[in-house]
Amino acid sequence: MKKTSHLILILILGLISMNMNAEGTKNKEKRVIVICAHPDDAELTTGGTAILLSRSGYKVKLVSLTNGNKGHHEGTKNEIAIRRYNEAQEVKKRTNCEYEIINNEDGELEANLKNRMEVIRLIREWKADIVITHPSYDYHPDHRNTSLLVQDAAFLVNVPKILPEVPVLIENPLFLYTRGRYVDRQKPNPDIVVDITPVEREKACIIDAHASQIYEWLPWINRSNKIIPDTQEEKIEYILKEYVLTRGEIKEKDRPVVEKWYGNKAKEVKTIEAFEICEFGRAVNDQDIRELFPMFSK
Ligand SMILES: [Zn+2]
Repeated sequence: MKKTSHLILILILGLISMNMNAEGTKNKEKRVIVICAHPDDAELTTGGTAILLSRSGYKVKLVSLTNGNKGHHEGTKNEIAIRRYNEAQEVKKRTNCEYEIINNEDGELEANLKNRMEVIRLIREWKADIVITHPSYDYHPDHRNTSLLVQDAAFLVNVPKILPEVPVLIENPLFLYTRGRYVDRQKPNPDIVVDITPVEREKACIIDAHASQIYEWLPWINRSNKIIPDTQEEKIEYILKEYVLTRGEIKEKDRPVVEKWYGNKAKEVKTIEAFEICEFGRAVNDQDIRELFPMFSK
């Protein structure tokens, strides 16, 4: 008899603790990590969403898997890496985001075991609820390999015997790809569309921190003869036009997705960032997505 009541007590305590854990998971501070190849990629692809999530209470971390040391036509590799590191520090100052640059050579990123472990470590240590990366089909080999590394981590991040020194997460994160500029292998519609209209200028402002790229390297590599403006105000206008508004245009295929997530506010949406779900991570329903993206109408 005594043994039975003991067992019942253990059972009740177990149920209470399970309930508390479930509540703890639900109410815990949410965290997103954007893992890209170069300093500036996260800002260009996900900057608006990162700002909005940060404002809604998320802890946001931006990661570059390379030091970006080939991303300029002038100066030594070391000078370029230092300059780009300082630009990332400027982004940190202009946002609430953490920023980490992993010291891999630009243009030489491989989807190897060492880098896979690094990505698993980053996701677990950040205790990410959402992981965002490049689409698998993209122009730069570092982008493609970053995407592959994150896809490889999407399953293995849950396997405790892989990297046992960093504990696995309570829940598998949602893994997302940013919108590609190339259509091959992409779904007909994005899964998630975030309205970044209210933070267009803030997005332009964090892109502006990457002066070596936006005003020097990208015009050079793209053989652009557009005049780079002098004043700060004109520079923000330039970035808005060249990088935020054009890349954030709502395409025909985005319309139903905007309407799905924003309901009767869909008409006010002008500029977006679009994402696709990577099926190797957490499987989510619409309710889960609304919980992860508090900006969507309930
Ligand atoms: Zn890049």
